[in-house]
Amino acid sequence: MTIGTGGQTGVYYVVGQSICRLVNRGSSKHNIKCTAPSTGGSIDNINAIKNGDRQMGVAQSDWQFHAYNGSAKFEGDKYEKLRAVFSVHGEPFTVVARSETGIKSFDDLKGKPVNIGNPGSGQRATMDVVLAAKGWSTDDFSLASELKSAEQAGALGDNKIDAMVFTVGHPAGSIQEATTTRDANLVNVDGAAIDKLVADNPFYAKAVIPGGMYKGSDADTNTFGVKATFVSSSDVPADTIYQVVKAVFDNFDRFKKLHPAFANLKEADMIKDGLSAPLHDGAIKYYKERGWM
Ligand code: GLU
Repeated sequence: MTIGTGGQTGVYYVVGQSICRLVNRGSSKHNIKCTAPSTGGSIDNINAIKNGDRQMGVAQSDWQFHAYNGSAKFEGDKYEKLRAVFSVHGEPFTVVARSETGIKSFDDLKGKPVNIGNPGSGQRATMDVVLAAKGWSTDDFSLASELKSAEQAGALGDNKIDAMVFTVGHPAGSIQEATTTRDANLVNVDGAAIDKLVADNPFYAKAVIPGGMYKGSDADTNTFGVKATFVSSSDVPADTIYQVVKAVFDNFDRFKKLHPAFANLKEADMIKDGLSAPLHDGAIKYYKERGWM
C-alpha cells in the first residue's frame, strides 16, 4: 500500500508518513505494509493511482473535482474510478515574496521572477487557473521557474526568484524556511478575478492566513484556498481502504497531534467537506460502523 504525498517540506509528506505509521502498527493483524514516498504533488498522485502505481494519494479538492468530472486540466480524461476517502486540513494558495522587492499583492508579481511550481504539483495547476482567470500567462513574469516545493525556499533565499507559490496547510516547514532564511512576507491574493473564481467554483473558498504565524507577516493575509483530500480508486480493495481509515479514526486524538494543521479537524467534516468523487466502499463501511452515515 503506497500513499502519494508531496515535497518533503510540505504537509502532505508529514500526513502520509503519519498515516502509514498508524497503519503499520497493525501490520501483524491485517498484513498491510504502508509507505508514503515524497512525490511531485496532487496531479502526480492522481495519475499514479490511475496507472495503478499507487493505491492512495493526497490531492487538492479542486483537482479531485476536475479529475472525477473530466474538467480543466483533466478535460476529456474523466476518471470515473476515482474515490474520495476523507479530507484533512485547508490549504490556502500561499504566495511568499522577498520583502526588499516590495511585493504585497499578486498584481505586484507582474514582470518579476517567480517560481510557479513543478508540473504535477497542485500549486502549479492552480497557479495556471489563477493566471487564466486574470488574463495573464507565464510571459507576464520575467522568469517562471518550475522548481519543486522543497527547492523554492532555497531559491528565494539565494535571490534567484522574488516570489514563490505553494498551496499548503499552515504552518508549513517550507514557508517557515522561506520566511526565516531572509526577510520575506506573505502576499495577498484577492481582487475581482479571485472573487469570481470563488463564486463560480464550489471547491474554492476565501481563506485567511493569520497574522503572526510567520516572521515578517504580522497582519492577516487574504487569499483563497482548497482542502487537502485523500483519494483512491474503486480498483483498490475495500478492506485495504477500511484498514487505513480505521487506523486514522480509531486513533484520532493521536492523529490530530501529528501536525499543527490537524489540530481542529472534526470527523463529521472530514467525511464530507471537499469531497466530490464518491466515497470509497471501504471508507463507507467504517463510517457506517461508527454511525456517521
Ligand atoms: N498542495 C500541494 C500539491 O498538491 C502539496 C502541499 C504539501 O506538500 O503539503 O502539490
